[in-house]
Amino acid sequence: MTNEKEQSLAIAEELKHKFEALGYAPTYSLDENAVLNICIGGDGTFLRAVHKTGFSSTPFVGVNTGTLGFFQEISILEIDKFIKNFDTGDYDIEKLDLLEGRVFSKEHKQYIHHSLNEFVIRSQDTSIIHLDVFIDDNHLQTFAGDALLVSTPSGSTAYNYSAGGAVLYRSLKGYQLTPLAPINSKAYRSLLNPLVIPSDSTLTIKRRSEDKSPTLVINDGLNIVCDNFDSIKIKTSDKWINKLQFNNNWYWLNIKDKFI
Ligand code: NAP
Repeated sequence: MTNEKEQSLAIAEELKHKFEALGYAPTYSLDENAVLNICIGGDGTFLRAVHKTGFSSTPFVGVNTGTLGFFQEISILEIDKFIKNFDTGDYDIEKLDLLEGRVFSKEHKQYIHHSLNEFVIRSQDTSIIHLDVFIDDNHLQTFAGDALLVSTPSGSTAYNYSAGGAVLYRSLKGYQLTPLAPINSKAYRSLLNPLVIPSDSTLTIKRRSEDKSPTLVINDGLNIVCDNFDSIKIKTSDKWINKLQFNNNWYWLNIKDKFI
């Protein structure tokens, strides 16, 4: 999959010819039997590709033509090296955990979504959202503020990071709850800091009945408007995606390069 940038389209053609020369049969369409999914663009392209394949178990690799590139390990200068290393099996497979978000309507209907970066729960208009937060069966807080953001370790460098959340190493087992503009006053007591939750715990976020506006659940940048939202139960999913990894030091080098 590629974004629409001229550079990305040219790289896609280059990869196609080079893989064909090695006896592979690259295609632009989705193929369940593929040995590799190549995403050319930025992290957004990677996210969209992962969703489009329905979180395929075929490994993914990203070639970076975007601005950040946290999923996109291959730079355009390293394409030949990448092809050679892939062909000779000289790589590791990194498992990236996903979140499962089970949205419940007031009529007790359930809708299951998966995210690679994060879920954000906010009101569709700009009003303050009031949410009861439970970890397993324990009531933690009644939150009031702009939104609650729940991110995977690999999503921790995205929206979560902008909201003051910690960067969690990708293979860490757990996920993070980060408040967006939490209100702390005589009227409201909201947790001000991010919280890291173990992967075997379930987080339940329930909208308070006094809120009347529709709820917006944002999944990896994709809006899901829920008119009759009751709650969402979030946990580390049983599904994951596989990503090729060529350089074990790349993650920390990338953090330094992109953020510091
Ligand atoms: P976008 O608005 O076009 O791009 C959002 C930015 O987030 C891009 O710079 C993208 O990098 C970067 N990004 C995405 N996933 C990342 C990750 N895991 N680590 C570090 N940076 C990451 O939207 P989009 O391309 O469709 O991506 C959707 C994502 O945007 C959401 O999942 C959310 O995390 C993020 N977002 C961030 C903010 C914020 O920081 N205030 C607000 C809304 C949404 P590339 O340039 O490489 O594509």
